[in-house]
Amino acid sequence: MHTPHTHMSWRVLPRRSTLEPGHIRASRKGLAVTLSLVVPIFGPPAAGKTTLTLRLQSPGRRIFRLREHVPQEVLAATASSSGRLGWIDEFTVGDALRSYFVAAYEDSDVHTILLDNFPGSASQVDQLLATLWTLTPSPHIEPIEVLTDARTLKQRAKTRKVCHRCERDPIRDPRLPVVPSTEDPWQCGHCGGLLHPRRGDSPRLFKARLQRYHQTAAGIRAGFTDSGIAVTQLDTTNTIDGAADLLAPLLISRSSSL
Ligand SMILES: [Zn+2]
Repeated sequence: MHTPHTHMSWRVLPRRSTLEPGHIRASRKGLAVTLSLVVPIFGPPAAGKTTLTLRLQSPGRRIFRLREHVPQEVLAATASSSGRLGWIDEFTVGDALRSYFVAAYEDSDVHTILLDNFPGSASQVDQLLATLWTLTPSPHIEPIEVLTDARTLKQRAKTRKVCHRCERDPIRDPRLPVVPSTEDPWQCGHCGGLLHPRRGDSPRLFKARLQRYHQTAAGIRAGFTDSGIAVTQLDTTNTIDGAADLLAPLLISRSSSL
């Protein structure tokens, strides 16, 4: 009898340096709940990153999505040019990371932060690490690269839908996956409104986003491994729920010094 996990694979890329982010864990004993684990989740468009983070949501865990922490005018500028594909400048990213992590660090209810679709480039890896390493003790970092075969990516991009009523996006470009009603695949199961495809899933934009991912992925991986942080690859081809089940125990064990 097959379990949904049968075809899922874990692969941990080798560590290349001796810097061991786990060493700070000992100094954490006796502290109140504090930010102890940061999980950057990156991967090609439509691989299931947002769904995965939503499945893993629980008390004490927060989800960071960059575009929710940048000024509306910056978002609007990224949308006006399809060539920019949502690219956000370094200063804005740096500011967003600093204020977000300082607030999370000071919030005793938060022990884990999942980064949905971040970092998106090698320089964003550097920015993230620089930000996290200013925190004392700095949290453990557990990057996950979500992988899916090309056919499944295309299929998911073609079928997933968003709701403009349930998700009030500042530039009217909602991203969060919705569940359609049981009677009508184009009706929102939550509010009954009309569903739409995601703007970035149009075949032309999707192809460009996929291409950009393939150009940047190696740099993102190297950004982590060169700093001694192992990247775990998680295959979501069969089911995203199954992948979430695989990841859940890892998250618990990594933040279990609480
Ligand atoms: Zn809705």
